[in-house]
Amino acid sequence: MIVEQVWTGNAYRNFNYLIVCPETGEALAIDPLDHEKCLAAAKQNGWQITQIVNTHEHGDHTGGNQAMVAATGAKLLAHRNAKDSIPGMDRGLAAGDVIRVGRTVELEALDTPGHTMSHVCLLSHTETPGLFCGDTLFNAGAGNCHNGGHPHELYQTFVDQLAKLPDKTLIYPGHDYIANNLNFTLDREPGNTRAQELLDRIFDQDANNAMITSLGLEKEVNTFFRLHNPVIVARLRETFPDLPDELDEKTVFLKLRELRNSW
Ligand SMILES: [Zn+2]
Ligand SMILES: [Zn+2]
Repeated sequence: MIVEQVWTGNAYRNFNYLIVCPETGEALAIDPLDHEKCLAAAKQNGWQITQIVNTHEHGDHTGGNQAMVAATGAKLLAHRNAKDSIPGMDRGLAAGDVIRVGRTVELEALDTPGHTMSHVCLLSHTETPGLFCGDTLFNAGAGNCHNGGHPHELYQTFVDQLAKLPDKTLIYPGHDYIANNLNFTLDREPGNTRAQELLDRIFDQDANNAMITSLGLEKEVNTFFRLHNPVIVARLRETFPDLPDELDEKTVFLKLRELRNSW
């Protein structure tokens, strides 16, 4: 499996992806908002884009569909419940559905509500899995729930699905928010040296060659995976003095998500 991360350079800091079968050159484009850059990358490498997956229905993920279909005839796939919000869908995805790309690549659809209620992540069936996580999981952060999402579902997606994937899973998010998110981590957990090291390393990185994190690293630097951390919990009590004595991890997650909204 070849993964090409395409940096759009737009104001929303979107990442688009091409996932390619190295044997046949067939490619699947994830959220190809910058269809021109995606098409240029495919052309340069001799790849044929035959499928598009939208992780969810927001315009900064679907905005390139029409031009991409016009240029390639690619089939359009997305969460089956997105059919009324994404025009021209050819295939609706449910949890566990497998998408084949060429002869060698298999991607499994995960039903991951929270950022929106019809959001899929794709997990590659490869020795080192890759997770294409749209706006659900970001490097060192979590998606917001402002536009059609629910923080309770986002929490369930994190604990029931994402946290259970192998630590070596590579994380391919829909946006480049890593620097901002690491600053939030350090605000909540000032002594997190791993987050500080990572921030020092990435703060002036070229987004065309962005660092790819693993889930194991995320568990060290992503506040939304660190719900039992005593520093995070103590800091949360300073911000919200009325929290109950017994704090469950769901409340910690929801309060962190709330803080991040206005941070
Ligand atoms: Zn979104
Ligand atoms: Zn987005």
